[in-house]
Amino acid sequence: MTEPFVIRGGTVVDGSGAPGRIADVVIENGRIQAIGDDLTTGGAAVVDAAGKVVAPGFIDIKTHSDWTLPLMPLSESKVRQGVTTEVIGHCGYSCAPALPGKADALKQYLSPSAPWLDFVETDFADYVRTYPATSVNRVMLVGHNTLRLMTMGMEDRPPEPHELAEMTSLLEEALAAGALGMSSGLFTAPGSYAEGEELVALGRVLRRRGARYFTHLRDESDTVFDSVEESIEFAQQTGVHVQIVHIKLSGMDNWGAAERLLDRLEEARRGGAQIDCDQYPYEAASNPLRNLFPSWLQEGGIDAMLDRLGSADVRARARAEVDAGGLNNFGRIPSWDAVRISISPDRPQYAGRTVEDIAAEQGSDPFEAALDYLVADRGQTRVLVSSISEDDIRTLIASPSVMVGSDGNAVAPYGTTGQGKPHPRFYGTFARILGRYVREFGLIPIETAIHKMTGASARALGISGRGLLHEGFAADVTVFDPETVAETATYRHPHSYAQGVERVWVNGVPVFAEGEHTGATPGTVLGRA
Ligand SMILES: [Zn+2]
Repeated sequence: MTEPFVIRGGTVVDGSGAPGRIADVVIENGRIQAIGDDLTTGGAAVVDAAGKVVAPGFIDIKTHSDWTLPLMPLSESKVRQGVTTEVIGHCGYSCAPALPGKADALKQYLSPSAPWLDFVETDFADYVRTYPATSVNRVMLVGHNTLRLMTMGMEDRPPEPHELAEMTSLLEEALAAGALGMSSGLFTAPGSYAEGEELVALGRVLRRRGARYFTHLRDESDTVFDSVEESIEFAQQTGVHVQIVHIKLSGMDNWGAAERLLDRLEEARRGGAQIDCDQYPYEAASNPLRNLFPSWLQEGGIDAMLDRLGSADVRARARAEVDAGGLNNFGRIPSWDAVRISISPDRPQYAGRTVEDIAAEQGSDPFEAALDYLVADRGQTRVLVSSISEDDIRTLIASPSVMVGSDGNAVAPYGTTGQGKPHPRFYGTFARILGRYVREFGLIPIETAIHKMTGASARALGISGRGLLHEGFAADVTVFDPETVAETATYRHPHSYAQGVERVWVNGVPVFAEGEHTGATPGTVLGRA
């Protein structure tokens, strides 16, 4: 039970897309009790919000914060943008289950993403049960790549019937334990080894359990439209809601097709498919360096890859493929200046520098320098790849149907997650939309922007009682100044909090107020309705 309080006189933008209006919001016992004019509640505390926007807490529908929340449960880089819910376990990568004897394999697999995390043997139920208390609410997904790694390692072949049965039963377990759905990462091994039949078989499990599917497309560059078709077919064949995450058109040859892509999704929806997508508003993507090269390099795991890279013939073959078709999943880039070292546990001195720059310093060829880097850092390095056009970014932002997701981790400028040069989207995604694209460029009304961060996301996730400022809904609330809200993180100096967000409540409990995180951890796990 918490004392009632009233957020007074702000412009209430309720997350539905409806026009904002000045009103008071009364919160009691973690819920929105009333919204209206001149609401008085006896001696209730008053928070003055005059001149500010009062909005539902933002739902970060696409994150990898499971890699950092165990270390940084306050989720500071997100809370300070107004985020109150994070969806974790995306792109096929989840930190559970880790079957007996396979925790090390999972640790090695996720090392470019979470080099600081310890992995212990766990089933999904224990993973959910023992998760640390967090400031934000969590929506948890189980990853197909993780299920495949546990069941059949890094084998490039279809599963045997008993292996598919094992993946199915692990998926059932995770869903029973509270996972909202399954994520896939079809662009990277071993998820990329899966064909449609395997995925549809798992999709039938999702359908039976009322769960959802979230996919990192098989390709986001030269065959992105084929990959979108694969997702649409999955939605049609299974009847499961599909979320295409961090949608983009990567590589110079694919720029300018965002409108066509949105048209295709709209057509699929009119035909009955349940399919949505989200986006982060930046030109650079983030990925393990090893995923830029042909995926056959990774078959059999890291050690096999490092062995192969000792062969000049293998290197020549990889180079020929990249020369002909561009980078795996990213397409053609103008030069290796478009690839910047982000996090490199064994070679941290290079964080923030481009491959072109490092190669020039060494007097070597950039392609060879990148492969040498993989060997030196045992495939652990993460990079940022500038491969998306600003025009396409704006086309996607302008569409009310494309949600906002950071694809970023909850971090802070200090401690373990304060190292390296992470993508600025970790700190800036939501503030960037509201500052740069709403206020500066006037690309969309603020009501549309907030809808893309709240009501639309709650609907796509199928979670009830969240995402709108409506009476009876959970009191996840953000108050920000529309005149000053902005990102401050840059590619060179990413560890910098957003500005302009003034107060944030999660389940009615203040987590951010007066410029400080309160230290509270009122987040809960949000499951299927
Ligand atoms: Zn992804």
